[in-house]
Amino acid sequence: MLARERQKQIKELVLSRKTLKISELSKKFKVSDMTIHRDIKAMVESGFVVKTFGGISLANQATNVSNRNECVVCYKSINFRLSCRLILTENRVETTCCMHCSFIRNQMLDHEVLEILCDDFFTSTTISARNAYFVMDTTLDLGCCQPQLLPFNQKEHAKRFVRGFGGTVVTFSEVMEIHWEKSKGCC
Ligand SMILES: [Zn+2]
Ligand SMILES: [Zn+2]
Repeated sequence: MLARERQKQIKELVLSRKTLKISELSKKFKVSDMTIHRDIKAMVESGFVVKTFGGISLANQATNVSNRNECVVCYKSINFRLSCRLILTENRVETTCCMHCSFIRNQMLDHEVLEILCDDFFTSTTISARNAYFVMDTTLDLGCCQPQLLPFNQKEHAKRFVRGFGGTVVTFSEVMEIHWEKSKGCC
């Protein structure tokens, strides 16, 4: 297996499991602990994960979190499952009320954004927004910013949601092509 593929799998594992042991990773991928240390080096440096004793854990408990109860873009208080986290360079983490504000922030900060974490709308597990599918223009109003973007890990789930509540399924890069602005009256 290529290092890149292994790193991608480690990323996905840490997203779903939150913490991982180096020894279990080396066993799983049949490589040395040294190799795993090399694999996770960039993830640790980018602030995506933090080192723990004998392992790594997802950086959402990082100390460097900006005011967690407020969206960095629209200052709406964060109290529900649409909220997202932006993992930035230099171990910074920011919280937004929903994917709408995450895309605005992503455009503002550009290459400083290393990762955007959001929760799958069905399963509430943490996923990477870059691999997610989004439902836009759905009739179900969740009361956050418009246009809404609901994240799904699986395209099939997004499609099923659309069958029930309407809307269109778009990918991260398709959403990136839209010019995001703080919509009037939003938040
Ligand atoms: Zn917001
Ligand atoms: Zn919002």
